[in-house]
Amino acid sequence: MKSSFAAGRFIKIQPMKTETIAIHAGNFVKSTTGDVTQPLSLSTTFLRDQNGEYPGGHMYSRVSNPNRAALEKLLAELEKGAEALAFSSGNAAGMSVFQAFKPGSHIIAPDDLYWGFKKQLLTIFADTLEIDFIDLTKIEEVEAHVKPNTVMIWVETPSNPLLKITDIQAIAEITRKHQIVLACDSTFASPCLQHPIALGADIVMHSTTKYIGGHSDVIGGALITAKKNELWEKIRNIQQIGGAVPSPFDCFLLVRSIKTLPYRMKGHCSNAMALAKYLEGHDGVEAVYYPGLRSHAQHEIAKQQMSDFGGMVSVLIKGSAAEANKVVNKVKLFAQATSLGGIESLIEHRYSVEGPNSTTPKNLLRISVGLENVDDLIADFEQALQ
Ligand SMILES: *Cc1c(COP(=O)(O)O)cnc(C)c1O
Repeated sequence: MKSSFAAGRFIKIQPMKTETIAIHAGNFVKSTTGDVTQPLSLSTTFLRDQNGEYPGGHMYSRVSNPNRAALEKLLAELEKGAEALAFSSGNAAGMSVFQAFKPGSHIIAPDDLYWGFKKQLLTIFADTLEIDFIDLTKIEEVEAHVKPNTVMIWVETPSNPLLKITDIQAIAEITRKHQIVLACDSTFASPCLQHPIALGADIVMHSTTKYIGGHSDVIGGALITAKKNELWEKIRNIQQIGGAVPSPFDCFLLVRSIKTLPYRMKGHCSNAMALAKYLEGHDGVEAVYYPGLRSHAQHEIAKQQMSDFGGMVSVLIKGSAAEANKVVNKVKLFAQATSLGGIESLIEHRYSVEGPNSTTPKNLLRISVGLENVDDLIADFEQALQ
């Protein structure tokens, strides 16, 4: 396989491991000043030569630019896909997939689909797409929902906020049999903990705002395809002509962040496992949802398809919403804020964020376990649960 990053400095050794890809695959250094890392390229437009060609490979920054190209190459390599597209948000990435299907198409999505996508499907696409929200963990019931106009099964695993695990390979058997698309929102797993394409997915989606960005300072989204095909070209068209693209600086930040992603994920996973075990043993806790716990309903599937279990933990506090909110107000290291995947720990009462139509239990707290020392995180919960 030909590869020449860093003006030929980097020679690809196959097969590279995740930590190596994360550091090297996004480095498209073309510099006359000897930069070791790729500079930020803010130009919106690029020079043509005497033949009218674009020797730098870029014409106009909405269509492509050096920092986005580096990010897209890096994401494709990390997810073991053919190509990636970066978007201005995770929502824009998902919406670009929904927009690629003809009106009247039927989509199967999880009953606990990320609420932003549920909102898109029920408002923006209410008149054009037909949707069934079903429990994708009940594999034996999924195929019965496939209809002649079904075009896609959209999976989200681990799911938000119940941390349900969907068996990607089992769903892939169904989508392959019916020749429909399998898309997987892999945001909670990041590109380090599971590879949906290797398990049979056609498209992987990430909110890069979360673990990929990892520092709560950039909004972004991405799609990665297993194959370049007609659907992918449609989605590329929606990205380039629709224009929901990230800025070069957003892409620069994401490439920079991905270099430490594999090591950040190791910390998130080990902290989350320790906190989940602690919470599971506490009298003030009704239940803990974490795919790494043996008590988790799909723990065996999680073990098969993930290399580790991620940094998200949901907990049901004994009592009502009031008891749960008391804990939120007593913890000191967990900032009460939405979002996830950053280096700082966050806590959120999901029901009040999702509103009155939410099916999330009212005593559920969603925790994004950060990279603080886990002893401090546990001590904080110890005092808050008293
Ligand atoms: C945050 C999130 C999204 C949406 O991404 P944005 O970057 O906020 O637009 C989609 N799916 C999941 C699982 C998420 O957590």
